[in-house]
Amino acid sequence: MSLVKSVRDSGLKRRRFLVGAGVAAGAGALARQLPLNVIEPARAEQEVPGAPVPTEIKRTICSHCSVGCSVDAVVANGVWVRQEAAFDSPINMGAHCAKGASVREHAFGEHRLRYPMKLVNGKYQRISWDQAINEIGDKLIELRQNAGPDALMLIGSSKHNNEQSYLLRKWAAFWGSNNCDHQARICHSTTVAGVAQTFGYGAMTNSFNDLHHSKAVLFIGSNPAEAHPISMLHFLHAKELGAKMIVIDPRFTRTARFAHHYVRVRPGTDIPLVWGILWHIFQNGWEDKEFIANRTYGMEDVRKEVAKWTPDKVSDVTGVPEATVRIAAEMLATNRPSSVVWCMGITQHHVGTANVRALSILQLALGNIGKPGGGANIYRGHDNVQGATDVGPNGDSLPGYYGIAEGAWKHFAAVWGVDYEWIKSRFGSKELMEKPGITVSRWFDAVNEKPEYVDQPSNLRAVFYWGHAPNSQTRLPDMKAAMQKLDMLVVIDPYPSMTASMHGRTDGVYLLPAASQFETSGSCTASNRSIQWRERVIMPLFECKTDHEIMYLFAKKLGFHNELCKNIKVVLNEPVIEDVLREINRSCWTIGYTGCSPERLKLHMENKHTFNPTTMRADDGPCKGDYYGLPWPCWGTPEMKHPGTPILYDTNKSVAEGGLPFRANWGVEHDGESLLAADGSATKDSQLDTGYPEFDHVFLKKLGWWAELTPAEQAMAEGKNWKTDLSGGIIRVVIAHGCAPFGNARARCNVWNFPDPIPVHREPLATPRRDLVATYPTYDDKANFWRLPTLYKSVQAVDYSKEFPLIMTSGRLVEYEGGGEETRSNPWLAELQQNMFIELNPRDAAQIGALTGEYVWVETPTGARLKMMAMVTERVPIGLVWMPFHFGGWWMGEDLERHYPEGAAPTVRGEACNTGWTYGYDTVTMMQETKVSLCRVLRA
Ligand code: SF4
Repeated sequence: MSLVKSVRDSGLKRRRFLVGAGVAAGAGALARQLPLNVIEPARAEQEVPGAPVPTEIKRTICSHCSVGCSVDAVVANGVWVRQEAAFDSPINMGAHCAKGASVREHAFGEHRLRYPMKLVNGKYQRISWDQAINEIGDKLIELRQNAGPDALMLIGSSKHNNEQSYLLRKWAAFWGSNNCDHQARICHSTTVAGVAQTFGYGAMTNSFNDLHHSKAVLFIGSNPAEAHPISMLHFLHAKELGAKMIVIDPRFTRTARFAHHYVRVRPGTDIPLVWGILWHIFQNGWEDKEFIANRTYGMEDVRKEVAKWTPDKVSDVTGVPEATVRIAAEMLATNRPSSVVWCMGITQHHVGTANVRALSILQLALGNIGKPGGGANIYRGHDNVQGATDVGPNGDSLPGYYGIAEGAWKHFAAVWGVDYEWIKSRFGSKELMEKPGITVSRWFDAVNEKPEYVDQPSNLRAVFYWGHAPNSQTRLPDMKAAMQKLDMLVVIDPYPSMTASMHGRTDGVYLLPAASQFETSGSCTASNRSIQWRERVIMPLFECKTDHEIMYLFAKKLGFHNELCKNIKVVLNEPVIEDVLREINRSCWTIGYTGCSPERLKLHMENKHTFNPTTMRADDGPCKGDYYGLPWPCWGTPEMKHPGTPILYDTNKSVAEGGLPFRANWGVEHDGESLLAADGSATKDSQLDTGYPEFDHVFLKKLGWWAELTPAEQAMAEGKNWKTDLSGGIIRVVIAHGCAPFGNARARCNVWNFPDPIPVHREPLATPRRDLVATYPTYDDKANFWRLPTLYKSVQAVDYSKEFPLIMTSGRLVEYEGGGEETRSNPWLAELQQNMFIELNPRDAAQIGALTGEYVWVETPTGARLKMMAMVTERVPIGLVWMPFHFGGWWMGEDLERHYPEGAAPTVRGEACNTGWTYGYDTVTMMQETKVSLCRVLRA
């Protein structure tokens, strides 16, 4: 038996092999072709040489991307002295990328905020926490009296752990506004909307590890070799085992260099390309007919749209030759199960939700959903962007995607133990209580816009930037203008973020030092839905406070701390994290955040080595039968011991063992057609062998299962459904009968309540192909969308292509993360990438005589002028330029260092490409457009 075969057959054997080989340098090392045996396995249990006291290991999780790599932090006498790669994690198996390998520096960084500060006459001055909380709190109270609670915008963080994210959403509710949001708006809100409306849940279906089972993987608008390096490790193992690799991207990325088949596409034409692939699939009968017939709705409507995309048309619109499209289709169809991985190249468009749906439909047509090695795999950006989306500050939803209608508020009023009428009284009105709030992508428009066009009583007048980088948003000159108009700007962050330097104000700005995630404990949800528990590594440094303590202190000042923590113990002003998670466990039945008690999560972290790195299942040991991190939904109460759901919509397992059908979320029929799954396509062991709706007390009684609830459960479940029954009895009984609490339905290819029920091509708002605008126009302008007027046609109507002939697009680097203040302050990472740059094709560079390393000006239709270095490379085609988005700290050629608090400016500063980005928002979620616009480049 070959080594590869024996490795494939035994996850544990395979891991021992990896440990022996010391794969500790991650995909970064793999990408550089380092031999795999250059690094010794860590011996974390040994004492630190010369350490005066014995060391202990604290288990934590890398706080950068969403892969969820474990880090062993070596602590001596309360000091974090060293970090080790965690070989026992089934996710990273000892590997770290450059960012993860240096997270200790994130906590100890010299550039951190150390104490609260206030801007006085243009200079930041040190103040006490008492002064900060009192002054800010007084201002908030005044604002509330003068303008109402909706004058405040809370921009939360996708780096908050689940408990902090949940508490911030609760805080916003008790303050009385839905104006709360976080990074997911601008990275994967379109994914969440697209996949939730197609399959039922807004999350990645499989796991990084599950790629081991894939026969082919399509990466589209995704560059994991840089953005999610350790996920590449799993894919590279799949490739060793024979998986085919297709990469679709306008730029030849570091990921593309591994591809068997590379497809260079014109930005903003993903739907025609996906329909072009599907055209070949339908033409050759490669679709999964049985799957389509039994488990999908509306595929016939898709066929009609796809039929329009003949190879010549696809080629004209996308720039991809016919043969290239056909090869991609054939590779996917003949190497099944095939998986699709996407990221911001797909989501950050004014048609982002439609892009996501096109890819979801492709996977449905191939029958790849609910299968090991298949799936719609969506790699998220920050460590807890999935969890913050699931339970955190979203302006259109309460935790667990309950929405903001009256029933949802009443559910949470019951969980929180507070009166619904009291919560309502905190809002400007019931109407505002049930109206989606302002989004992070547009908050500045809610400041700058004429009051009569903002659909709330007042413009925004105060903003909290709570662990979020402003340079990850577009249209920064408009944002700067808004910052100057605000009554107050509050930044809460371990590092100051570019907010601290870009506002151009002389007063009314506060910087509050937050503790990092290594200075608290709590759970975070990796992109694959696994929930991992972080131990506190060190106590907060300097005068930093944990985010939940800061939330509590503000609530105390504002008078709602008792309601905020009614069921949560508070110790020294810190709400106890375990108690917060228990409240999440008691409330979020919709997505099964109910079985993942702190005790179960801690047990998983202590026994990581018992989980198989391919299946993610513990085949033995104290977690036997569980999947690693209890990937949600983890149904029922913790006592029910549901193992988690490793692959969404997998009908080959019983629900009790982690199986699921598609969710019945849209009724039982539409236009006379059944939306429920066909007979015979229920999950394994289901006592209902056909499609069925979601469960409530009436359905349970009709089936004769009601008597199986205990009397206490019956009392609580009467009049309730599976989502609102706080006893959990409905879910318990339904699963005992082998059924899914949310029903058994068809995936929707036709989402009739969306602007485009079947995704159609719409030319980018800033397009160089003016000849295509009439045939593929964008949407009509909207007078009121997420409380603001939103433009489409009037933006597209202006032709900038002659003055600005280059298509511009953006992406990530392996060295930095997000807005980059932490990583650009990290000396090890800063050394690797010292300058902001723009990639230019040699022919475009020759036109202006620019050489690599020389400064150029990048000018965009907004009037922005950005100064950065040229990098001349054939990675980008003629006519297209690419920039990384992590830089900040410059403003149109000026270094802002003197505007940061002393010593807090990041080591590497550069122009933020988003300063120049143009207008554009997804028509469902308000996702910003960052992947297609126009610019010109001049020598500086
Ligand atoms: S940045 Fe992502 S891939 Fe790199 S170590 Fe951290 S979690 Fe893992």
